[in-house]
Amino acid sequence: MNKPLPVVMSFSGNDPTGGAGIQADIESATSMGARVAPVITAITIQDTQNVKFFSAVDAKMVIEQARVILEDMPVAVFKLGMVGSIENINAIHSVLHDYPEIPVIVDPIISAGGGKSLASYEMALAYSDLIFPLTNLVTPNSNEIRLLAPGADSLDACAQELMDDGCEYVLLTGTHEGTNQVINTFYGHHKKIEASCWERLPHSYHGSGCTLTSAIASLVACGHSISDATSIAQQYAWQSLVYGYQSGMNQYHPDRFFWTKGWIESDNRSELKNMTQSEEKTARRLD
Ligand code: PLP
Repeated sequence: MNKPLPVVMSFSGNDPTGGAGIQADIESATSMGARVAPVITAITIQDTQNVKFFSAVDAKMVIEQARVILEDMPVAVFKLGMVGSIENINAIHSVLHDYPEIPVIVDPIISAGGGKSLASYEMALAYSDLIFPLTNLVTPNSNEIRLLAPGADSLDACAQELMDDGCEYVLLTGTHEGTNQVINTFYGHHKKIEASCWERLPHSYHGSGCTLTSAIASLVACGHSISDATSIAQQYAWQSLVYGYQSGMNQYHPDRFFWTKGWIESDNRSELKNMTQSEEKTARRLD
């Protein structure tokens, strides 16, 4: 029997542009060798410029989507993206609380790339009270971390505050800072562990945070440590932006399947053709 792929249960919103949200999670997980069990928390109406409107899924539906799957199959990692409402934070908390052995990786979505707010001040407080005490890794950008730790006077102090709330590790991303390079800083166990610098790319990208966090969650699901997963996923997310393209009129989309390009263009393609043909033959024989 074939071995099943490890499952990342992703609490996420739907983005009809296909750039962020659940589609970003599914594409990143597939790229990393994992699979998403999608628990939809919100429906959004948006284009590549901004979110126009969103509606949170009823909290009871969020709990039921998750619990039915958790009773049916092993889940390796919980990944949280857009949660939609304070009721959904409570609902997700109740699910995570019942599965303390499953690692929790959180992308605290506070606003869309175009600026539309996707979480209230009360929701930021609820992350600190209910989600961070159960979180292994949180991946805020600098705008998000300032909202999540309003009392802190520097980005290092903000990360410290999230670790004081209970997060084991923090990966603070630097895309929104005015630095020449993008500097991502990894903290853990109350210390700064590592800063990594990335060439700043020329465009504005939609779904980059979702790509990074779901790649980390998937690598952890595949057995990597949080620290290794964080390094590998940064490389993957950056490459997906290098290959990014403009499918609408505004923000660019990452190409999360950039890694298939060389493969499809190379001789492997004929190998695939041969394989498919021989499988077809086998299938015909069985018929
Ligand atoms: N999830 C959903 C459903 C969204 O609509 C958005 C932004 O619009 C995000 C997540 C965050 O996307 P990003 O990775 O660009 O921060």
